[in-house]
Amino acid sequence: MNGEKLKVLVVEDEPLISEMIAKSLKLEGYQVDSAKTGEEGLQKVKEVSPDLVLLDVLLPKIDGWEVLTRMRDDSRTRSIPIIMLTALSDEKSKVQGLRGGADDYVTKPFSSLELMARVEAVLKRADRVGHREGVRSQIPARKGDKIYLVNVDDINFINIQREYTYLHTDNDRFLTNHTLAELEKMLDPAKFFRAHRGYIVNLQKVKEITKVGTSSYELTMNDPSKSKIPMSRRQSSELKKILNM
Ligand code: CA
Repeated sequence: MNGEKLKVLVVEDEPLISEMIAKSLKLEGYQVDSAKTGEEGLQKVKEVSPDLVLLDVLLPKIDGWEVLTRMRDDSRTRSIPIIMLTALSDEKSKVQGLRGGADDYVTKPFSSLELMARVEAVLKRADRVGHREGVRSQIPARKGDKIYLVNVDDINFINIQREYTYLHTDNDRFLTNHTLAELEKMLDPAKFFRAHRGYIVNLQKVKEITKVGTSSYELTMNDPSKSKIPMSRRQSSELKKILNM
């Protein structure tokens, strides 16, 4: 990954949750600082000037609402995006949080995938991801309850099934929280091609293109299961041109 890492401060008193969040953030390429209390959080916000703060509501002594209020009252910390982590799912705390100046909130228990999606969305809205964009060599994705960094060269194709996006390698299928449009920006256009509304293929893994109807085509991948991918006439002629077929 190029450029300076984005910094996220995690203010959370429960060590297991704090560690889980830190681990997921690091896998996504963020620099992580942690604080266990509201006081420590306020101090670290000034020390590290994070790009984003994940702020637990239920903290000993100074709680998350108070930290939020103090950060918004201070010109040095006013514009830092904040996502509240709350165990309270009621509308009242949501309204309280958003009125108090939080950018978003996530209700416990949450999955790391969900949290990472919120983090990215809030950073994007705050326009802090600009320098993070660009071609990547690895994509964070999940299999079961584990998160992996998948090498892009190992990806045969990417597709959408229902609302989920999957990275397919020779032997595995990984779930990613990126959309195809986001992945297109992250992948080298010399190596990957948007073959269909729901597919991106690795050009080096394309075996052949065959006509299957009057105007539909099918792409066969050079993967162990010889996966078939539907294509339109326009996409197939574009791809044939790229591959000199
Ligand atoms: Ca707590």
